[in-house]
Amino acid sequence: MMSEKGKLVIISGPSGAGKGTVIKKLLELCPNLKFSVSATTRAPRPGETDGVEYFFLSKEKFEDMIEKDSFLEWAEYVGDYYGTPRQPIYDNIDDGHTVILDIEVQGARQVMQKEPDAVTIFIVPPDIEELNRRLRGRGTDSEEKLLARMERAKLEFKEMNKYNHVVSNDIVDRAAGEIIKLINRKDR
Ligand code: ADP
Repeated sequence: MMSEKGKLVIISGPSGAGKGTVIKKLLELCPNLKFSVSATTRAPRPGETDGVEYFFLSKEKFEDMIEKDSFLEWAEYVGDYYGTPRQPIYDNIDDGHTVILDIEVQGARQVMQKEPDAVTIFIVPPDIEELNRRLRGRGTDSEEKLLARMERAKLEFKEMNKYNHVVSNDIVDRAAGEIIKLINRKDR
C-alpha cells in the first residue's frame, strides 16, 4: 500500500515576528514535520550552520541555480537572494512528511500558484512596537537594515489576507499549538 503523501505548509510573516522561533518549536513537537532548508546569499549569523538554518551560497552559485530552474521560488530580499530548492520538498512529501516552508510574501505568492493545496499561514507579532523590540532584541541587524525591515513589514502586513490563516505569535508555545491544529485539520 502506498503511504499517504505529506502536506506543504507555507509560513510567512514580517522578519522578527518569530517565524524561526515558532518553527523550531513545531519541529520539536512534531517529528513528522520537515523543514525545507532555504538557500541564501546572506552571511551566516553567529551560531548558524550551513545546511541547518540555510544553505549559504555565493551569488554566483545562486544565480547558476536560478538558470537551472532548481528553485520552487526565489526572491531578492533586503539586498540578498533567498530561494527554496525544489527537489528535497517533493521527496519528503512523497515520503509522507509534512514540509514547512518559511518564505517571504513574494516567494509565497509564487508557491501558492504552483501548489494551490498548500496550507498557508501568516505569523504576526502582537503589535508593531513588539516587532521593533524583537528585531532590536535579536541584535542581528544594523540600524539601517532594521529600519528597512520595519518599512518592509508594513508592506507585508497588507498581504496577510492572501493566506488561509493568520496566527499571532504572542507566546511561542501557544502559537505553535495553534499551527499544529491548523495543519491537522482536514480542510485548509
Ligand atoms: P523571524 O524568523 O520571523 O525573523 P525570529 O524567530 O528570529 O523571527 O525572532 C525574532 C526575535 O524575537 C528573536 O530574538 C526571538 O527570540 C524573539 N521572539 C520570537 N518569538 C517570540 C515570542 N513569542 N515572544 C517574545 N519574543 C519572541
